[in-house]
Amino acid sequence: MTRPSKATIDLTALRANYLWGRSQQTGKAFAVVKANAYGHGAVACAQALADIADGFAVAFCAEALELRNAGITNPILILEGCFDLDEIRLAQQHTLWVAIHQESQIQDLENTSLSANTLHVWLKVDSGMHRAGFAPQEVQAAHARLKKCQAVASITLMSHFASSDEPDKRTTLKQIDTFEEATRGLPGIRSLSNSGAVLAWPQAARDWARLGILLYGADPLPQPTAQLIPVMTLQSEVFAERWLEPGESIGYGGRFVTDAKTRVGLVAIGYADGYPRQVPSGTPVSVDGALTRIIGRVSMDMITIDLTSHPSAGIGSQVELWGKQIDINMIARAAGTISYELLCNVKRVPKVYVGDIAV
Ligand SMILES: *Cc1c(COP(=O)(O)O)cnc(C)c1O
Repeated sequence: MTRPSKATIDLTALRANYLWGRSQQTGKAFAVVKANAYGHGAVACAQALADIADGFAVAFCAEALELRNAGITNPILILEGCFDLDEIRLAQQHTLWVAIHQESQIQDLENTSLSANTLHVWLKVDSGMHRAGFAPQEVQAAHARLKKCQAVASITLMSHFASSDEPDKRTTLKQIDTFEEATRGLPGIRSLSNSGAVLAWPQAARDWARLGILLYGADPLPQPTAQLIPVMTLQSEVFAERWLEPGESIGYGGRFVTDAKTRVGLVAIGYADGYPRQVPSGTPVSVDGALTRIIGRVSMDMITIDLTSHPSAGIGSQVELWGKQIDINMIARAAGTISYELLCNVKRVPKVYVGDIAV
């Protein structure tokens, strides 16, 4: 038997999450499939969404070309924009939409002869996140220069939120105001909302939402409000078991010491598969559908779980690390990180796609 660890990807859930996310506002929606679709497999996810998605968004040019090479013909937006002229030419050639977030990218367009009316640009406004984009007072001038570039076919106005997943913070409203102020009087459609904004800030809804983490069924809000379906189930099996006497230690560092007679199950998943090493003893896992806990340190290829109160579980029992039974946000909190990072880090385990993909 081969190692029973895998990431099962539910493409029906992915489609349902996309449709639900888009239905929360009146505009269109990108399915954000950057970083290999947050670890879920960009090509497979894009193919599963191709007949319903208004467009896809990726971080950089090579990610977009991977989708084009796989036969994806939907609009694709490059969120980080192009790094040089060669990439702009590729974008043009493959009809990719590009973010323009800094001066040098405008200069590239001004100083080059590209075929007229071929490039759809997304002008990024820094409305307060202070990461990428033009400062509010630079936006009108940037827009005017882009308008003069022969290659530019259309200009969309976009911005990104720093704290849309924090419903108590007023900064999202402030960012919306700043964006409105900076873009007053400019024509063109607009795009503000990421997942957090779609879930918590209806005021941010414009022409295009950019749905990332919610597609994958991980609610970014502290108090989940949405009916999102987890797409990835990270799972494995118990492949060995042993009884320990009270006072015996388990695993690296011997950090966990039994306080009673304990039955320990050995599970074939570890930090080399992307399960976070940081989680402490007590972190929940499910075994044959019942809740139990990790005991001892997470090692590279294995974890140890408590089977003492699960007498029917043993070798061959199914273990879920996160998915429909174990909320990935709980594991992320235990590891001091966010679901995004856990999902992106999944590696080594095979991905198994399930669900009916109606194409
Ligand atoms: C990654 C990204 C998104 C998607 O964010 P989620 O929080 O995953 O919804 C949207 N817009 C931009 C600019 C991004 O970089």
